[in-house]
Amino acid sequence: MSNVTALSLFSGGLDSILATRVVMKQGIDVTAVKFITPFFGYDILRDTFAYQDEIRTKYGIEVIVVDISDDYLQMLRSPSHGFGRYFNPCIDCKIFMLERARAMLEQYGASFLITGEVLGQRPMSQRRDTLNVIERDSATRSLLLRPLSAKLMKETEAELNGLIDRDQLLDFSGRGRSRQIALAKEFGITDFPAPAGGCILADPILSGRISLVYDGSFPVTQDTMSVVDIRLMLIGRQFLLPHGGWLILGRDEKENDQIEELQEAGDVKVLIEERPGPVALLRRAGKIYADEGARSRDLDYAMGLITRYAKKVDGKPFGGNVVIVDADDRKEIYREPLGDDVFKSWTI
Ligand code: SF4
Repeated sequence: MSNVTALSLFSGGLDSILATRVVMKQGIDVTAVKFITPFFGYDILRDTFAYQDEIRTKYGIEVIVVDISDDYLQMLRSPSHGFGRYFNPCIDCKIFMLERARAMLEQYGASFLITGEVLGQRPMSQRRDTLNVIERDSATRSLLLRPLSAKLMKETEAELNGLIDRDQLLDFSGRGRSRQIALAKEFGITDFPAPAGGCILADPILSGRISLVYDGSFPVTQDTMSVVDIRLMLIGRQFLLPHGGWLILGRDEKENDQIEELQEAGDVKVLIEERPGPVALLRRAGKIYADEGARSRDLDYAMGLITRYAKKVDGKPFGGNVVIVDADDRKEIYREPLGDDVFKSWTI
């Protein structure tokens, strides 16, 4: 079995680690594929080599990192199987990733695909009928092996062709974790991530923000939502201003830096320099306003929010000189802080 190669969809969770190792144990050369979007795993892109090293050291797995952000956003605009409890399009997400992995098989000389799915583990996306839909719609029916539940499923091509020994595959099912933990121990794996978490689409706060986009009550629409918009949605305090503007305001130095990093042409930066305080972006201020009056009134509110959240003076919000950077134009204007009752309803 030594010349056989497989690709494993690798979330980094225990199930995907085990599924990969179960197949590797049969002498099969497995490359794990970690897909990245702004919703999951994006931080890995800051240092891909460090991530690969960590996975190799902890689990003995070779992983490649693939950024699928742009195409994933297209899918998210209209997932054909709908959303889960929040904004998580789990079925379409899995179909999408399997399609992408299937397209990589030839490049890696791989014969089949692996996932860590366990029959019946999740109420919607891991029921037997849903697993069948995922296989059908991603055109991976003969190619997809789920090693942790394989004995409870029909034989795949890899088993039928003798590429892998079905007897050494497993029959895990349901939500319990004890068999996974016992198997991890057998592999000498003790340090692994806690189950769930990690996908922002299943997070109630972010999904609330994204739902505004889908309702049409956000300055960014489904068609124009970009990877940068999504990343900005995850940072700091967020406000929808009375004249239609979207303001993102940093809560600490790290968030201020992220906001500055993500600023694009057309965004107006608002900040305070005379004492510690937030950096804010009035996003797409060059495009979304119907007239200059609306834009300058929202900018005025943004300045009042800057002084509200700047370092307090004698324990109270205090006025200050606010800097506005609009393309090449830079102004400094004094503003009093806004009262909390004024902006409470703008928070998203
Ligand atoms: S939780 Fe997120 S990453 Fe996982 S399947 Fe659902 S949408 Fe995809």
